Amino acid sequence: MISVKEALTKVLSTANNLGTEIVSIHDAIGRTLAEDIFADRAMPPFDRVTMDGICIDYTFYAQGHRKFLTESVAAAGSPTVTLHDQSKCIEIMTGAPLALGADTVIRYEDLKAIEGGFEIVEPIYQGKNIHRKGSDHKENAILLNKDKKIKAIDINVLASVGKTKISVYKKPKVAVISSGDELVEIENIPASYQIRKSNVYMLQSRLKELGIYSNVFHFVDNSNSIYEELNSILQDFDVILMSGGVSKGKFDFIPEVLDRLGFEKLFHRVAQRPGKPFWFGQKDEKVVFAFPGNPVSTLACFHKYFMPWLYQVRVQSYNPLKVVLGTEVRFQPDLDYFAQASIEQAEDGRWIATVKHGNGSGDMVSPTQMDGFIELPRGQEVYKVGQIFEFMKF
Ligand code: AMP
Ligand code: MG
Repeated sequence: MISVKEALTKVLSTANNLGTEIVSIHDAIGRTLAEDIFADRAMPPFDRVTMDGICIDYTFYAQGHRKFLTESVAAAGSPTVTLHDQSKCIEIMTGAPLALGADTVIRYEDLKAIEGGFEIVEPIYQGKNIHRKGSDHKENAILLNKDKKIKAIDINVLASVGKTKISVYKKPKVAVISSGDELVEIENIPASYQIRKSNVYMLQSRLKELGIYSNVFHFVDNSNSIYEELNSILQDFDVILMSGGVSKGKFDFIPEVLDRLGFEKLFHRVAQRPGKPFWFGQKDEKVVFAFPGNPVSTLACFHKYFMPWLYQVRVQSYNPLKVVLGTEVRFQPDLDYFAQASIEQAEDGRWIATVKHGNGSGDMVSPTQMDGFIELPRGQEVYKVGQIFEFMKF
């Protein structure tokens, strides 16, 4: 049995990006840039007036003049105007290019209206209220770096440089597959010995939240039919997330079938609870995460392994929180323990985790009352209040 750390390293070793594709700026939110974004011209592209008011030639002001008659009016969106008479001013608006012959803008708040013009009644300095051409960035400067995840604030930059089409990393096509003869569809009434399948819909919804669309399939516990169906599903998907059929039961056929399909097993069974029977393997560019079927096990494996994998293929950001253990935990088995916990932020800003043990990995209601898993690494029997651990939010 492999350690959690080794298992994660193996999972991440398979994570090469899936290539790139071009998306519209309107669909770019949340995607990861596969190209650098350059300034198509200087930023700002002209000496931009930043206040509504007047512009003047400062040298005239420096000679002691305070009253300026208005020569003309310049709005944002009109071409650059010229101040012809240096003793006068131009009324000019925010967003307009500074008038030629002027070098200082005085906002209306610092002016008093006089007959035919304005009197400057507050102190000013040369060059005031002008956002100089190229003062943010020169033409051709890199504004956004490749590999950056696109947030709404980045859309500003993409739009301002006229990028309508953007190269981003491809998302994986994911098949989510349940297996087990005891499972029936949600809308069915289960017999006394059956249950409704729930796991796969949890996984699919979680993927949807991450902006990844998936198809759901189901396998009965029959080795040959699993072989046939999986073989055909593999043609159309990059990643298979399976739940169930990887434990030591007589009808847990998944590992054997994956072997027959030519998959390389990177590991089977990890020193963790829940989720110990997790099987992981790859064939060419395809990867299979075969999680054990119990809902809490599936959830733990998804967060611990699939989320970092997604991060590595540049699809999703992933930063587990650091939290402070707020309740002492005793756990004897030589396994990493993913304990369900709720977290609360203390006044000093630290997150404090309260562990509440559910009723085992089949208890799917318990996680609904928690915030996530706190990862308590093996090698300790008592985890003390105040110790800091990683936390994976559901
Ligand atoms: P398995 O990993 O196939 O041994 O399944 C472990 C437990 O999880 C069994 O009690 C299954 O009935 C249950 N289980 C398996 N798949 C699902 C599923 N898709 N939804 C809910 N429970 C499941
Ligand atoms: Mg099963």
